[in-house]
Amino acid sequence: MLTAEREQQVIGLCQTLIQKQSYSGQEDGVVDRIKKAFRELGYDEVSVDNYGNVLGRIRGKRPGKVILLDGHIDTVPVPDESKWKHKPFSGQLEDGKIYGRGTSDMKGAVASMIAASAFFAADTDKNFAGEIYVSGVVHEECFEGIAARKISERVKPDYVVIGEASELNLKRGQRGRAEVVVETFGKPAHSANPHKGINAVYKMASLIRAISELEAPTHPTLGLGILELTDIKSSPYPGASVVPDYCRATYDRRLLSPDGFSKKATSSFSPHWQDCEAPASLRRSLSIRSAPTAVTTQAKQRSRPSVSDPHEKTSRTPSTNTLRSISY
Ligand SMILES: [Zn+2]
Repeated sequence: MLTAEREQQVIGLCQTLIQKQSYSGQEDGVVDRIKKAFRELGYDEVSVDNYGNVLGRIRGKRPGKVILLDGHIDTVPVPDESKWKHKPFSGQLEDGKIYGRGTSDMKGAVASMIAASAFFAADTDKNFAGEIYVSGVVHEECFEGIAARKISERVKPDYVVIGEASELNLKRGQRGRAEVVVETFGKPAHSANPHKGINAVYKMASLIRAISELEAPTHPTLGLGILELTDIKSSPYPGASVVPDYCRATYDRRLLSPDGFSKKATSSFSPHWQDCEAPASLRRSLSIRSAPTAVTTQAKQRSRPSVSDPHEKTSRTPSTNTLRSISY
């Protein structure tokens, strides 16, 4: 039961987690605070694995199923603190809302799961069947799912609840993710005589325009299959009177179908090969990298799409052999 005192405990824990900056790979301070919270709240076992994930365990008095309440404890960075109305690492409480980097993604949920499990154990005097684990996972923002997998291997949960923000709706799946790198290759020249070279950025610009016009597929549960440009680099940089002979763009692809990862991740690009003047024989070869005006793509799978059906025992995910990295 959530008494006023317990509510203050949850709020206080959430605020201290926010006050510990924990960009990906720098989660030590938060891990120490969570370890302390687990101990103060009477968890039976507290541990940190070799990835740096922190894990608390509460054992019921009777044998039963294992539930894992999972949350990541890293956050994305704050590029410019001066643009924040409330300081990003203050954990300030105002009008019933807590402000700060990572409050909803997902220190609020982590604090709530840590506290709720302990309150449940106290209220029942641990007279329940099974075990409760609460995990604080590291490095999720950069490598979604990698560190969490370590937890699952160890805990072997029967049920998992992930506390990602969902506007208090129950979500039963999520899109997979791939990172697609597109490269164009041109020919360098002095920019006073650009006709002697081939500008790789112009090649990329036409590709980007064409890709932006592609229609994204949709899924009734998972929503839109995103293909979003996230960065672009040219070389040499700075150009300083040189026509750039290399350009690289990265796309964030959100996958909907559990099948055919490789094909789906990059097929969006294939209609545009011909625009880039790469000979067909070169388009499927890595040697294309050294060819002028060539285009390459590489797709790295970050996470797989999955949808849990409440009527099925397990969630559906693609077979691993469709998930290899590819290069054209
Ligand atoms: Zn998150």
